[in-house]
Amino acid sequence: MTHAQEPDLEISLDPQDWEGLRRLGHRMVDDMLDYLRTVRDRPVWQPLPDDLSHLFDQPLPLDPEPAEAVYERFRTDILPYQLGNTHPRFWGWVIGTGSPLGMLGAMLAAGVNPNAWGGNQVAGHVERQVLAWLKEAFGFPPESSGLLVSGASMANLLALAVARNDRAGFDVRDRGLQGSDPQLRVYASAEVHSSAQKAVELLGLGARSLRKIPVGADFRMDLAALRGGVDQDLAAGDRPICVIGTAGTVNTGAVDDLDGLARFCRERGLWFHVDGAFGALAVLSPTLRPGVKGIEQADSVAFDLHKWMYMPYDVGCVLVRDETAHRGTFSLTPHYLAQAARGLAHPVFSPSDYGPELSRSFRALKVWMLLRTFGFSHYARLVQQNVDQAAWLAQRVDREPRLERLAPAPLNIVCFRFTAPGMSDESLNALNQEVLIRLQERGIAAPTQTTLHGRFAIRVAITNHRSRREDFELLVRESVRLGDEMLAEGFA
Ligand SMILES: *Cc1c(COP(=O)(O)O)cnc(C)c1O
Repeated sequence: MTHAQEPDLEISLDPQDWEGLRRLGHRMVDDMLDYLRTVRDRPVWQPLPDDLSHLFDQPLPLDPEPAEAVYERFRTDILPYQLGNTHPRFWGWVIGTGSPLGMLGAMLAAGVNPNAWGGNQVAGHVERQVLAWLKEAFGFPPESSGLLVSGASMANLLALAVARNDRAGFDVRDRGLQGSDPQLRVYASAEVHSSAQKAVELLGLGARSLRKIPVGADFRMDLAALRGGVDQDLAAGDRPICVIGTAGTVNTGAVDDLDGLARFCRERGLWFHVDGAFGALAVLSPTLRPGVKGIEQADSVAFDLHKWMYMPYDVGCVLVRDETAHRGTFSLTPHYLAQAARGLAHPVFSPSDYGPELSRSFRALKVWMLLRTFGFSHYARLVQQNVDQAAWLAQRVDREPRLERLAPAPLNIVCFRFTAPGMSDESLNALNQEVLIRLQERGIAAPTQTTLHGRFAIRVAITNHRSRREDFELLVRESVRLGDEMLAEGFA
């Protein structure tokens, strides 16, 4: 008989010393709250030093190590080298900050650890509740459907899958896209996020089916060009199925004319999807809401809660007006997932009917806790605060002779560069790349970059509830100082 068969030698992953783990757990919570409270005192970013990278090239750990020792490794080898997005001067890409309460909510979800796929469990009620709140906030009818997902990339993919199946004109689930049917076409502005193209590729439509419509000087889709593009495809025998409007482009925060797009889609029988990963959250603020008017008419909307709602990674949301079309795209119930009138298999909400995933985490809990605790009005004020900060920064850049703004700043994104008289765009591009890297490497601030009309831009995207006016003042001052420093070093 082997040891594993002796009942009193059976093992588990529970601690032998619960009190010891309790002490360690309390210390972890204390340490993390201290870490978040003092985040402003540290550099925005520091990478793992090259001479420490061996720490993550270790052999497979076959034997145990005390949890206290592993936690110590976390404190010394992992904690200091974060991306930096909890810091008040992190404005890279479009990345949310998270919050102390959000951390605790995520911990509780990990503690109860349900599989939130469906069945008769409270997680389904919580997600239904959260989705009902979000529908209301976005002006969607209560009978519309939705799902919490990993982020806007996934939300875009799911929405476009529903759009494709609903508007293809044949049964895509059964036949697939292998026949000689008309070519399905999707339209979006040239500024559309890359996740839309990935979705179109994954859905078997091919990247060439995503028609990128030119934008005007304000980086919004040119509606006349859209009309022309659709007419041209129709004349060629193709089948236009969907227009993606963007609420908040990732480059400049531009919002397409959603009202105009909604009208056009209605006229032409096209599915109207809005990628509002961050910009859609403008609906929360009464003063910003008119800027995204038309979003409430969309057939589907994708947005994130981990960006401009500052919730812990990861959580995004897709809303779909037509529940039948949504369910019709994903629902598939084998015997082993059959639903019952009572008991554990009686569903209160079946996420697997609305997306491709089965097992999934209890994302709704942190959302429910945070929305209840702070209330939508607090989020509305934070979104407004970030927009006001962007407007202030834009004006501040405009007043600074050494800086030049490179795009309108209609929402929460400001693009600018350092300039010097007589320098070519090419030299300025190289100089500004170096200014940006020095800002990051010296831990001063963490904007990232983009290129607008061939010009390198330092790009500041504000989805940060910790930023203050003084942080933007510092960014302006340091950008000028670093540019001057490079000129003094003889850069030309
Ligand atoms: C961030 C972003 C996405 C992708 O969202 P993820 O949450 O990163 O998957 C899509 N569209 C826009 C406009 C974005 O800003």
